[in-house]
Amino acid sequence: MKAHYQTRGLLIVLSGPSGVGKGTVCAALRKRMPELAYSVSATTRAPREGEREGVNYFFKTVEEFKQMIEREELIEWAQYVGNYYGTPRRFVEETLAQGKDVLLEIDVQGAHQVKQRFPEGIFIFLLPPTMEELKNRIVHRGTESEVTLAHRLNAAADEFKQIHQYDYVVINDEVEKACERVEAIIKAEHCRVDRLVMTE
Ligand code: 5GP
Repeated sequence: MKAHYQTRGLLIVLSGPSGVGKGTVCAALRKRMPELAYSVSATTRAPREGEREGVNYFFKTVEEFKQMIEREELIEWAQYVGNYYGTPRRFVEETLAQGKDVLLEIDVQGAHQVKQRFPEGIFIFLLPPTMEELKNRIVHRGTESEVTLAHRLNAAADEFKQIHQYDYVVINDEVEKACERVEAIIKAEHCRVDRLVMTE
């Protein structure tokens, strides 16, 4: 009898404060690991310059977003600095069912909800090298008003307090190095005995 080994698709959650460079790390990861499926979130935030519908986010009105909540179309959702953000359920469930890995880039409130439903997920927190660096990155991005900048920095301070919910921490000193570490984590997680599935 010939046994085949495989591991299940992994649900990988990446969080970290606004400005830490999650978007840049995710974009670099997608190039490095093309087999990784990336969940596109729904949001009521207005698109930033260059952001595209269905690529960066599914942009929704508050009304549409609330309907998605009511219809249970989201695995998790949260309000962040005055806007709604949520993860569409269908894509995540279908992709995992196909045995593929899925990456969610979501805030700590969302990660907390995902952990309740998918305790076997991998939770990674991305840290800036310093808080000063974080502030510089948000300021230089130039997309936020003074008020939202202050709110985002406050939110960052709250998010740091939740770091104990995560399994791994990765410092984003250099994008490629941060990606290497995330890739190493994913590869090691695939080698865990408790993720092994034997098929005949
Ligand atoms: P931004 O407005 O900078 O794109 O995102 C703001 C925050 O919302 C970031 O911390 C980002 O990770 C988070 N976020 C993006 N998509 C989702 C989502 O689907 N659910 C939750 N809970 N947070 C999200």
